[in-house]
Amino acid sequence: MANKTKFQAIKGTRDLLPPETELWNRVEQTAREVFGTYGFGEIRLPIFEATELFARAVGGETDIVSKEMYTFEDKPSGLPDPSEVPPSDYTDAVKHAIKTGQIPATVKNRNTVAVLEFQLANLEARPEEQERAYLIWSHMAGGLQLGEEVSLRPEATASVCRAYIEHGMHALAQPVKLYYMGPMFRRERPQKGRYRQFYQIGAEVLETVQPASAKATAGGAKDAPKDAAVDAEVIEMVMTYFARLGLEGVQLDINSIGHSAPAVDGKNVCRRGYVEKLKAALEKVKDKLGADSQRRIETNPLRVLDSKLESEQGIIEKLPRIGDHLCAECAKHYAELKRQLDLRGVAYKENWRLVRGLDYYMRTTFEITARGLGSQNAVCGGGRYDGLVQLLEGPPTKGVGFAIGEDRVVLSLLETKNGSAAQGRDVYIAWMGEEAQATAIRAARDLRQAGFRVELPPVEQKFGKALGQADKLGARYALILGEDEISTEQWTVKRLADSKQEKIAKAELVEFLKRELMK
Ligand code: ATP
Ligand code: MG
Repeated sequence: MANKTKFQAIKGTRDLLPPETELWNRVEQTAREVFGTYGFGEIRLPIFEATELFARAVGGETDIVSKEMYTFEDKPSGLPDPSEVPPSDYTDAVKHAIKTGQIPATVKNRNTVAVLEFQLANLEARPEEQERAYLIWSHMAGGLQLGEEVSLRPEATASVCRAYIEHGMHALAQPVKLYYMGPMFRRERPQKGRYRQFYQIGAEVLETVQPASAKATAGGAKDAPKDAAVDAEVIEMVMTYFARLGLEGVQLDINSIGHSAPAVDGKNVCRRGYVEKLKAALEKVKDKLGADSQRRIETNPLRVLDSKLESEQGIIEKLPRIGDHLCAECAKHYAELKRQLDLRGVAYKENWRLVRGLDYYMRTTFEITARGLGSQNAVCGGGRYDGLVQLLEGPPTKGVGFAIGEDRVVLSLLETKNGSAAQGRDVYIAWMGEEAQATAIRAARDLRQAGFRVELPPVEQKFGKALGQADKLGARYALILGEDEISTEQWTVKRLADSKQEKIAKAELVEFLKRELMK
């Protein structure tokens, strides 16, 4: 009996099909072109990395890492199957594998080995306990962590920084400008514009600071104008890219989130000082907030500002604002960012509620929204993250970058009709007769060489049927090859939009179509 399983794409994943994929290609090609003109080179990264990299870089307490990652154990092949060898042999193999580093020497694995050995002793010494001891033994053996814990990437900035360190890119001409594109994975609730496998196009500017100016990274005034200019150029680049794509209703929101400086004379300053005040203010209105926000007062007060709850909006508007609490250096950087954006003619809206929850994010944050997307209308998020490379054991390095949600960009283009799918074919060759097929094959080859999209039916069709097929495929011209055409070498070319028909000499065909299709 045939198995009736109906395979379907896994929830939150989807197939991208023609003709929409033509639009995806245009979105990607335009990114390559625009980013290239700003001196960015492409980096291609692995789809999975050590879980620890994301835990460290994205933050273990974030939703992304704590709930949304696809994590699995990367099992080695060296160990036998525990059900196929005697328990004592398997236990020895595990001990050896831990010693040689073949499987991770984690505390859990070492404890597990201790239990395995204990149950082995029970197995051998007490016959009446054998069944139970074996059950426990095999249960414990199944819980060994045999390989490194890896995760499908939920974002790519962590990988870019890992690669920067791994390849010693601090030794290259600074700054290093990289862009990437590809799928990301987060176990979220799927809805319009939100998927479990989605695609991002992103870019990062990384610059290792020389020891002499290393102090400047920690918030020095000297670098503020330079850093702000780098931030502004990155933003200008994304906005140029969106304009080139014809994305509609694009709005850029900016903010500064200060930096997480150590306390001065026992007093918290800049972001930490602000968070302290924010927390105190939130405590006072706690009763009027929803359960989520109440919880966040303790865990991550900045995230309360993200709230979309209607009932909380009036309260949030009255909370202290970070702009009033920036240290002098951060305030200077922010003022310079705005001046630099003005210089570049980039329009922006200041949005004091735009925040990032992680410590190494600092100063510039921005978000771009576009039309046609409903509530998932953010198409790009970005900001400065000077502490991240160092957090991953690299040298002190400044960083600024962004990630664009490609799925949402494509959706917005489709909704606003700037992304109507390209025409299916330029030319459909309708042929009848053996001799006509040979000519049609040569004509198809010549036209394809000239860059036209050509459909050549594999078998003879009556002209009426062929023209119907050409219409269905959205072809713009039909090239008709019958006995007449072959003998006179004058081909019939029919424009499908208005059925206008002309005879064109074989030698003129390519030039004729070039002229017509350019119109
Ligand atoms: P959102 O608030 O929409 O969840 P985010 O803050 O999680 O976004 P980032 O991690 O900054 O988003 O990622 C940058 C961009 O990637 C977002 O602006 C969005 O366009 C896109 N994006 C993020 N998550 C998804 C998803 N699950 N499906 C589709 N696009 C996504
Ligand atoms: Mg999200």
